[in-house]
Amino acid sequence: MSGKRRIPWIRIAAALLVGLAVTAEILVRGFSHSHGTPFWLRPDFGGVRSGVSYVYVARTRDKLLMFDAGGDPEGTGIIELLHLMNASPPEVSAIYLTHGHPDHVASVSLFKNARLWGGSGDARLVEGKTLSKRALPRLLSFMVENPPPSKLTDLLPANFRSPLSGWLTLQGWPAPGHTPGSFFYLLDGVLFVGDTLNLSGGVLSLGNPAFDDDTAEKERSVARVLQMLDGEKVDYIATGHGGVTQPNTARRLLDDLKPRLRH
Ligand SMILES: [Zn+2]
Repeated sequence: MSGKRRIPWIRIAAALLVGLAVTAEILVRGFSHSHGTPFWLRPDFGGVRSGVSYVYVARTRDKLLMFDAGGDPEGTGIIELLHLMNASPPEVSAIYLTHGHPDHVASVSLFKNARLWGGSGDARLVEGKTLSKRALPRLLSFMVENPPPSKLTDLLPANFRSPLSGWLTLQGWPAPGHTPGSFFYLLDGVLFVGDTLNLSGGVLSLGNPAFDDDTAEKERSVARVLQMLDGEKVDYIATGHGGVTQPNTARRLLDDLKPRLRH
């Protein structure tokens, strides 16, 4: 008898759980198709929230470079930003990925003429052939719409420095930990850190470890890259989910972070 009485409660609990999961999925998917208002760091250097993450675009003398491809497969916010820069998706010549999580690669296929650069450790992640090692990102990747398949066209060399047109140089450093192929980039005083660092309430931090493959390795990577950055001009830090630092705060925020690193 008691077993029979329990069944309706089990059914109600199961229905509630399914209802919650469906609501969460609808919310997450709805958010992944949303975008923010494009903003400017300086003329010809802008950013926008695309889905859950930020995308940045820089125009050099002869190229249009993009950093990450956001979480919205339709890329509406990015197209809006490009429009404001008097540009369109076919003009993007290269996309540099800070890492290969699905919420940073969703609109890659919209940019047909762009080379896709990323760390070799994330090649399979970009192709959707492997998932993060950790439970939370795995769960989220099931809930976020799968991006159309993409493939790295070029693998980033470690600690590279490549001259662009004019006096500009793009620099990059491997920063494994959040994912195996995570990278930092520095272009014209703007440091792109992806999810390796987070900005919240004006404070730069190592972000939520629940989303990292290997947090200890991430801390070692950050300490190493910060050393490399010692003599470099850093005006802004552009993060994957926390937006960009305020003017004239980047160097202080990096110095404040150093003593908080355990490695
Ligand atoms: Zn990530």
